[in-house]
Amino acid sequence: MRYNVAQLLKEEIGSTRAYPIGQGSDSYNEANCLWLMRTDRGIWASAQLSTLGTSVCSRCLVPFSQSLELSIEEEYYPVADVHTGKPMEVPDEEGAFVIDDANILDLTEAVRQYRIALGPMKPLCSEGCLGLCTVCGGNLNLQDCTCLDNAIDSRLAPLLQFLNREG
Ligand SMILES: [Zn+2]
Ligand SMILES: [Zn+2]
Repeated sequence: MRYNVAQLLKEEIGSTRAYPIGQGSDSYNEANCLWLMRTDRGIWASAQLSTLGTSVCSRCLVPFSQSLELSIEEEYYPVADVHTGKPMEVPDEEGAFVIDDANILDLTEAVRQYRIALGPMKPLCSEGCLGLCTVCGGNLNLQDCTCLDNAIDSRLAPLLQFLNREG
């Protein structure tokens, strides 16, 4: 996810480049594409990608793969002048994306942030996930656990005893 943009930085404002993203890697499919445009201050990155990442189910705590379609729109600012290598002003915004002093634009961090922003707050491995047993901690998707039945039995025991006596 690292692109050398030295050449593009030397071109005039409005120049563009398109790249395929992460071909041959498992995490990104080939429909993904990155489009870069030289701006007055840096490079505008526009990327469409579907990522496959691992999330942890908020109910049963089991990791599962989840695919997310990301549409990234970010401006990247060079930390060094491409011609002279002199340091450049980078906007003082928090989380501004930069092109490093080797003219590498790295999309990884943006992808990470977009995934977090887009991902569900409470991911579920499946809609019907049964979660964990509150008594023994077992995964109820994988095992039938009788803890809850037993718990109810013990709570009802005095009542049952009473009924037995009366009966
Ligand atoms: Zn689950
Ligand atoms: Zn249990």
